[in-house]
Formats: sequence, C-alpha cells, structure tokens
Amino acid sequence: MALLVQKYGGTSVGSTERIKNVARRVAKYFTQGHELVVVVSAMSGETNRLIALAKEIQAHPDPRELDVMVSTGEQVTVALLAMALKELNIKAKSYTGGQVRILTDSAHTKARILKIDEDRIRADLEAGYVVVVAGFQGIDEANNITTLGRGGSDTTGVALAAALKADECQIYTDVNGIYTTDPRIVPEARRLKTITFEEMLEMASLGSKVLQIRSVEFAGKYKVKLRVLSSFGEDGEGTLITFEEDNNMEQAVISGIAFNRDEAKITILGAPDHPGVAYQILGPVADANIDVDMIIQNVSHDGTTDFSFTVNRNEFTNTMNILRDKILPHIGARDVIGGDKIAKVSLVGVGMRSHAGIASKMFRVLAEEGINIQMITTSEIKISVVVDEKYMELAVRVLHKAFDLDQAQ
Ligand code: ASP
Ligand code: MG
Repeated sequence: MALLVQKYGGTSVGSTERIKNVARRVAKYFTQGHELVVVVSAMSGETNRLIALAKEIQAHPDPRELDVMVSTGEQVTVALLAMALKELNIKAKSYTGGQVRILTDSAHTKARILKIDEDRIRADLEAGYVVVVAGFQGIDEANNITTLGRGGSDTTGVALAAALKADECQIYTDVNGIYTTDPRIVPEARRLKTITFEEMLEMASLGSKVLQIRSVEFAGKYKVKLRVLSSFGEDGEGTLITFEEDNNMEQAVISGIAFNRDEAKITILGAPDHPGVAYQILGPVADANIDVDMIIQNVSHDGTTDFSFTVNRNEFTNTMNILRDKILPHIGARDVIGGDKIAKVSLVGVGMRSHAGIASKMFRVLAEEGINIQMITTSEIKISVVVDEKYMELAVRVLHKAFDLDQAQ
C-alpha cells in the first residue's frame, strides 16, 4: 500500500460541507489501506481577509506579525478536517507547521523550507493516524512563525512528500488537471495526461494558477511524483507531472501554449556597440528590482545597435523613466521607445529538442493570420513571440489548432 501526501486547496476546504467531502475522500483512501498525510490551505478568501485586516492597522504590515496572523487560516482548517475525520471514526491528528517542525529560513512572508523533522509524522502513521498538516507555514531557527508565500501550501505538500519519500503527492484543486492552454480562450483545450517538469516550469503563466511554481521546482529537485487532480465530482486521473527520462511514451512535439499579457517592451535605439553597454543598460534596471524577461540585441552597423527587452507591464513607466533619466545620457544612445500593449505567446514542448521546423511552422501560421511578430526568443523547449495584445487570443487559437493540440495525446 502506498504512502500518499494529499494537498487540498482553499476552494476544496471553502466550507464545512466541503471539508466533510474532503474527509470522505481521505477516508476512502485510508480504508483502502493507504497511509495518508493531508496538507490543507486556509478556507478560500481567508488569507486575503486576514491580510486586509492587517492593512487596516498598518499600510505595510510588519512581516513577522503578518506571518503570526495569516498562518491562523490554515490552523483552522487542519483542526476542522481532523474533526471531520474523527466523525467518520478515523484516527486523525492535526499539526501546525511549527509543531511538525518544518524549519524555514527567516524571510517572513516568503520563507524557504530548510528541513523537515518527519519522525513525529512517521510515528503517527505507524500508530494508524491520518496526519493533517497546515500548509503555507513553518518556523525559523528562533521559533518565529514564518509563511512560504502565496500559494505556499503546494510547496508544503511537495516538501513533506520529499521528506517522507511518499509514493505520490496529489494536489487536489478546482480544476481536473493541466490543460494544453486556457480553456476560456480555446474551448477545445485538452487535459494533459502527463507533462514534464521542464514543460510545467515553462508553462508557468498557465501552470502557476494551478501550482505554486516553487513547488514544481522542489518536486523536480527531489524527484517527487506529483499529480494535479480535482477535488470536485468524479475521481479522475488528473495530470501527472513526470521526469523526461521516465517517459518512454512517444511524446507530442508540442505540449501546450502559454501566454502572458503582463509584459511591456522597451527598445534602446542606437546604443553604442562596445563592451559594458548591456550592463550599463540593465544594471540600473536590476538595481531598481525590476525583473527583465526577454532580452534581444541586434548585430551592429555603424558602431551602434538596437537593444530590446521586456519587463512586467506595471514596471513599464518606471523602467522608461530610469532609462531616460539615468541611462540614455550616459551611454549616448539615440532614443528609447516602448509599448505596453503587447502579449507573449509561447509554444512549449520537450519534443522540440528532436524536431526541426517547429519555429518556421509557428511563424507561417501567424503570418497566414496577418499577425505581426515583434520579438522572438527561444529556449530548447520553448519558442516565444511578442505580438500586439489584440491578436493574442487569435494567435493562441490558430496555433492550438495548427499543432493538433485539440487531438487526443
Ligand atoms: N492560504 C495561502 C494563500 O492563500 C496559502 C495557500 O493557499 O496555498 O496563499
Ligand atoms: Mg493554490
């Protein structure tokens, strides 16, 4: 029989009725003979409610105190779930992160897990208990309560699965798996039976709504078998997140299409082409804590070159100001131009490594729709283009069809 870590998100424990449903699902696995560690989030909306309360007192809440407070959301749901299990005559015990001793660093509100003492959980499992652990929280060396960042319960689940060497970490949520793209844009989007870790990370713009991206990195590092499933309705198989080397099946070349409307592009025209210029441009941007995504520099002519990059849309004005005030005068470039009405569309698939012609097909499909490509970047398993925001949905739709993503895997 298997050792399973199951994680239930906020909507799955959003009411006492739903908590009873979760208890019934846990009970079903338990009576089949499995050992279960269950991680839960706070009831949906609760973490937001608590943060809003704090902001009524302090515009920028003290991070240590904020952690003391927001961690209570999960403390409520673990106890309720343990009670619901007891009502079903199942032995259950709830623990906060600190009680387990999920040791983290001291970076309040975004702490990282350093170590988990799994002895106590193991002893309980051996004694026939279902162990219910509060997600999203830990404790630092000095016993301060910490939290792991929004969506952090996923990471708690994966970290416990890694520490306990569980057979599988099952993430129960309100969707029944990872899709080829967002079904709200492409109704024909399909649930993927499997996706690799690398693809999942590249699909972050879609996947992060389902899984905290840190949990995927964690699972990849510790080889945790991770599955995303729905906690509503029928039991399905969900989507299994696999390691490429485990995957003997013939893989589709393209697994999915990710998109992102949160970007803005900036181009420095006529930047001098000599050592240190890229650093002079991006250094001050990095110093202002602005994340840069795509970076493109062209070959130079007449000793100057054009240098383009993208940033998060809400950093657009800020970045343009830094460039105009602090950078242009120093490097002696001609001008800086930019726009924030753009979107990024990416084809993702490990099959790209061994298939030629994917990029040219992508560009042909977009050309046939009259969609202009403004920027292009690639990695081994991803091709991204920047297009006008108003063509984003069209681009996703035609690519989804052209690459047969609506056909069975
Ligand atoms: N309750 C926390 C949040 O809303 C953690 C989680 O749900 O994963 O972000
Ligand atoms: Mg979540």
